[in-house]
Amino acid sequence: MTTPVLVVGAGPVGLSAALALRAHGLPVVLLEADPEGRERPGSRALFVHRETLELLDGMSPGLALEITEYGSTWHTKRTLYRGREVYARTFPPPTGTPPFTSLRQVDTERFLLTACRDAGVRFVWDAKVTGVRVDPAGVTLTDESGRTWTGTHAVAADGARSAVRRELGIPLEGTHGDGFHVVADIADIPGAELPLERVFHYEHPGLGGRSVMRVPFTGGFQLDLQCRDDDAPEEYGSEDAVRRWLPAVVGDGYGERVLWVSTYRFLRKVAASFTDPRHRVLLVGEAAHLFPPFGARGMNSGIADAAAAARAIADGTPDAVASFAELRRSAGLFNSAAAGTALEHLRPTRSIVRVKQRAAAALAPVLPRCGAWLEHAPYGPRHGSPAAAGRKY
Ligand SMILES: Cc1cc2nc3c(=O)[nH]c(=O)nc-3n(C[C@H](O)[C@H](O)[C@H](O)COP(=O)(O)OP(=O)(O)OC[C@H]3O[C@@H](n4cnc5c(N)ncnc54)[C@H](O)[C@@H]3O)c2cc1C
Repeated sequence: MTTPVLVVGAGPVGLSAALALRAHGLPVVLLEADPEGRERPGSRALFVHRETLELLDGMSPGLALEITEYGSTWHTKRTLYRGREVYARTFPPPTGTPPFTSLRQVDTERFLLTACRDAGVRFVWDAKVTGVRVDPAGVTLTDESGRTWTGTHAVAADGARSAVRRELGIPLEGTHGDGFHVVADIADIPGAELPLERVFHYEHPGLGGRSVMRVPFTGGFQLDLQCRDDDAPEEYGSEDAVRRWLPAVVGDGYGERVLWVSTYRFLRKVAASFTDPRHRVLLVGEAAHLFPPFGARGMNSGIADAAAAARAIADGTPDAVASFAELRRSAGLFNSAAAGTALEHLRPTRSIVRVKQRAAAALAPVLPRCGAWLEHAPYGPRHGSPAAAGRKY
């Protein structure tokens, strides 16, 4: 057998990398620490944006349609400030690929896994990679039981605690925010579904002035509650706590429909390098960068990394890998800065920002651009990194 490319991690980014490598005609072995058939919790990355759908379709024609037919696309976005609507816009239904679709990450992974199997990716489950050796001819990976695999290259898609990154001695550089958010998945009540729209509510009066967002996905919706720096996680972030504050956001009847609850902090970190000195290992997805969920940059930019990594490996030269690493790292730094802009709006360190938000909310009925600013600002800049060649991520 021709020496394969090794991919570490069967999250959305590793699966996309494997698929993209197969689309370039390269043999792929994917090593995953978890057992086959594992259950991954929570909705997590919901938004799959149009340009991600286009990338996936390039890797596996028809995949974008499969995902969009399953996902939900809503046409109305709504923003409230202390109980009063300040922005609402309904867009006409798109023709062709929609601007985004929303589905639980576990469902996106299901589509990707099937596409990888159909494309001939070889999976090795229960293979927790612990060792990485790079030599001029390629890469050898070792798992915790001592098995080894050799590849021309390795794509490290083993997530935030990447063992491959650690073995290469590449640090993650950046910051983490104070305070935490609670994220909860709630199942729809059949026949009494809430309107299919994304709602952001600044300083919700029923939540002691905490901000909350509701994002639909197929079968339910995700709530993101922004807690205060001095809130205790157990008061807001346990399942019982969610049942207590849930009626203020969506009314009664959802107490038994809580599917998943988690908390997170805003992390903004980018690896010091996206490759090793010999250009044989390529870091992608959360192995290479961590961004907060607002702006949907995590999975979307990880899939852009995966497509770029596969192109560089197919090219076969160290220069192509070096240029992948440089371009995707600058895209990562851009995304991190964009998330920082969003963070300064969501959790302002300067009181003037809150004053501006209050003024914009007061002016929104007569000056629609004030409402539009309140609507857009939580997600950061809408344009993409110059390094990403006109793309958003
Ligand atoms: C609450 C929340 C909401 C989010 N919302 C969004 C959103 O709206 N949009 C968005 O784009 N992103 C969002 N994200 C981020 C998104 O979930 C991540 O960006 C995404 O999961 C990263 O994918 P990945 O494949 O890089 O890593 P992971 O999904 O972490 O996958 C890594 C894989 O590697 C495996 N692995 C780990 N170590 C090893 C090892 N040593 N050997 C072999 N295998 C290993 C793991 O088992 C796992 O399967 C959100 C995240 C959270 C927590």
